[in-house]
Amino acid sequence: MLLPGFGEEGQQKLRESTAFIVGCGALGTVIANMLARAGVGHLIIADRDFIEVTNLQRQVLFDEGDVADGIPKAEAAKRKIARINSQVKVTAIVDDINHTNIERLITCEDGSKADIIVDGVDNFETRFVVNDVAVKHGIPYIYGGAVGTVGMTYAILPHAAPGTDDANQPSWERAGRATPCIRCIFEQAPPPGMNPTCDTAGVIGPVVSIIANYQVAETLKVLTGNLDAVNPAMVHVDLWQNHLKQFKVARAYDAGECVCCKKREFEFLDGKFGSSTTTLCGRNAVQLTQKSADGDRLDFEAIADRLRPHGTVKVNPFMLRADIHDNGEPYELTLFKDGRAIVKGTKEATTAKNIYAKYVGG
Ligand SMILES: [Zn+2]
Repeated sequence: MLLPGFGEEGQQKLRESTAFIVGCGALGTVIANMLARAGVGHLIIADRDFIEVTNLQRQVLFDEGDVADGIPKAEAAKRKIARINSQVKVTAIVDDINHTNIERLITCEDGSKADIIVDGVDNFETRFVVNDVAVKHGIPYIYGGAVGTVGMTYAILPHAAPGTDDANQPSWERAGRATPCIRCIFEQAPPPGMNPTCDTAGVIGPVVSIIANYQVAETLKVLTGNLDAVNPAMVHVDLWQNHLKQFKVARAYDAGECVCCKKREFEFLDGKFGSSTTTLCGRNAVQLTQKSADGDRLDFEAIADRLRPHGTVKVNPFMLRADIHDNGEPYELTLFKDGRAIVKGTKEATTAKNIYAKYVGG
């Protein structure tokens, strides 16, 4: 309350706010921890995964007891936050966040929507779904990502539909502080397997904390109405190269014809793009199907190079097959050129999506 721009009024605004934290892993645990300590009144924490011992290097809300208990990340976070700040209400959602459920899950009991969405996601497909929902409903969205020694963050204060009159514009648009959405900047999600993941390339703990805390700072600015202080640039940090760069992205909105925030077509939220899963009967396997604008972009050799340290990998021009052990369990991962994948070793769609996100990446 002593800080300029906060005061008692700012603290009260935090208490009355709902933040939706998508993903409660490396970024999400730091974000949930700091927002709870800051006194944000309601946190909705969504994550589909369980805690593994290898998560503890960076996922600061969890400990060895949580691994032994085998409880899901969202529930473990809820338990821990109850001990940190008992006045914060936590809604834990143990589910895969996707186009079929996100609009329901960002809605509070009284029918209002979350005031902000904070990104703790491990794949681009989910980010594009989140971006769509943020633009459609005019909810600020704080993007963040980290892998290796590198991280990025960026605050999206979404534009209203072109032609919206002043009275119906969000406060940030009237203040001239609206920013381009993710699709203004990256038109499409990168193809699967293009980028390293934390499970194939590793991640240094501090870069996660730095990015997550940048996200928390932007969240606190937005929720307290300090819109002038929100950074309109995309921040890029490399802790090994000692770089901290800011990319000015403001022109991406004016310069482009964004499908999402200008044309108001929500292709990821409508399920036009993205993935779907099918459990394959009697085979203890799940098929994942990717729909993207320009298909056939998988680079098998690059994916194989990243998977070899984790198991046996075979590649031919038509498919890639890898035998992987994850958390002691054996899985067979088969990728096809058309973007399909079959994860053998589970009947659970969420487990299959986890394995895919960890070792191939979205
Ligand atoms: Zn846009």
